[in-house]
Amino acid sequence: MRRIAVVGAGQAGLQLALGLVAAGYQVTVVAARTPEQVRQGRVLSTQAMFGPALRIERAAGLNLWEERAPAVREVRGVLAAPPGVQALAFTMALDEPAQSVDQRIKFAAWLELLAERGGRVEYRTLDPAGLRELAERHELTVVAAGRGELAEVFARDRPRSPYDRPQRTLAGLYAHGVGSPDPAAEPRARMHAIPGAGELYLQPALTLSGPCSILLWGAVPGGPLDCFADRPAPGEQLDRIRAVLREFLPWEAELWGAAEPTDPGAALYGALTPTVRQPVARLGGGAGGECPALGIGDTLVVNDPLTGQGANSAARAAAHYLTAIVERGEAPFTADWMRQTFELFWQRHARHTVDFTRAMLELPEHLHAVFAAAAEHEQVARRLANTYAEPSDYAAWLATPELTAAYLASFAD
Ligand SMILES: Cc1cc2nc3c(=O)[nH]c(=O)nc-3n(C[C@H](O)[C@H](O)[C@H](O)COP(=O)(O)OP(=O)(O)OC[C@H]3O[C@@H](n4cnc5c(N)ncnc54)[C@H](O)[C@@H]3O)c2cc1C
Repeated sequence: MRRIAVVGAGQAGLQLALGLVAAGYQVTVVAARTPEQVRQGRVLSTQAMFGPALRIERAAGLNLWEERAPAVREVRGVLAAPPGVQALAFTMALDEPAQSVDQRIKFAAWLELLAERGGRVEYRTLDPAGLRELAERHELTVVAAGRGELAEVFARDRPRSPYDRPQRTLAGLYAHGVGSPDPAAEPRARMHAIPGAGELYLQPALTLSGPCSILLWGAVPGGPLDCFADRPAPGEQLDRIRAVLREFLPWEAELWGAAEPTDPGAALYGALTPTVRQPVARLGGGAGGECPALGIGDTLVVNDPLTGQGANSAARAAAHYLTAIVERGEAPFTADWMRQTFELFWQRHARHTVDFTRAMLELPEHLHAVFAAAAEHEQVARRLANTYAEPSDYAAWLATPELTAAYLASFAD
């Protein structure tokens, strides 16, 4: 039985480990926190997952919350013009429903499932020396440690890393009791863009205490929405959210009167620098003197959450790596094989998430034309929504002003 180690018990690491155990591999996962610590901790993400990623989980039998999590079939998009005016609004239908299951629920349960199914779990936080020692003991070591410090053993890929600093500061809250502007249309996600200031996302989700709403601000650093730097506790964040909504998105403010944080860990804060890393870390030591480890998920590709790509991409990467490992048979997992495995994933999928997210952060002129057309034509709105689910479509219609103009021309009167 081939021995494989996975470092990190998040979307990519646990999904890959569970797939490997099902395929007959001997798997060790190194997890920083126990299931109980994960459940009792703070929220980690907003984790909206679209149809293609949910299909992967379903096919692997990992869709344990599908019946309980709200199924989001459409997204209401609003372009706001400060102060507090709706400049443009449109509704985008998704071809397949999206779902958000609190990662605290998901990762804790998947860890328990892994142990039940015969995977070994070591609870500790690995440093680079520990990683090398682990890699020496296993035929393949995959680092799925997210955006944490361990990712730094993988060199930054400069040409593929579009930014050297965060483009948004993030503040999120899980809440019960948030109202809806159109109850008949629920469950529905809402996105508000405030040009120059940032974005607000609202989405139905499943958390530890049942269905809830998740709010996430993506604030342009130094701008008027960048007002959560002191990381207030959930109750205080809620008061501040109401004040910001009253000023910038008053039609939302009235829906937050009865809202309450879901639990003491319901608030999250952060700012991340979109980064792409080289897929192979050479850890030194080992028989060949290099001892390579392969990265996956956020460890290699971090996007701003604006387009909701990270967990989706981690799920796709885990499925891609699982197939590549099984197809490798008994052959050694060399550094070349690692590079090829990631490169194929990059070409097929990850590069599109980076390009699409960059476009949505920077909003070039031709994307304004897309929003305007989406408000007029249901088909344009639908294609935009489904580009979030299948970002490779970005290359077909949004990558250049010419492509977009050619597509929109067919809708001209
Ligand atoms: C505010 C916010 C909102 C987001 N919204 C969305 C969204 O709507 N849709 C979407 O698709 N993505 C979203 N994302 C991104 C998504 O959450 C991540 O991309 C995804 O979870 C990455 O999966 P991963 O397995 O690579 O890493 P993670 O899920 O981060 O898992 C990494 C794991 O490794 C562990 N770990 C770290 N270091 C070590 C160590 N040294 N030793 C042992 N274990 C370690 C961590 O504890 C963690 O359990 C969002 C992110 C943020 C910050």
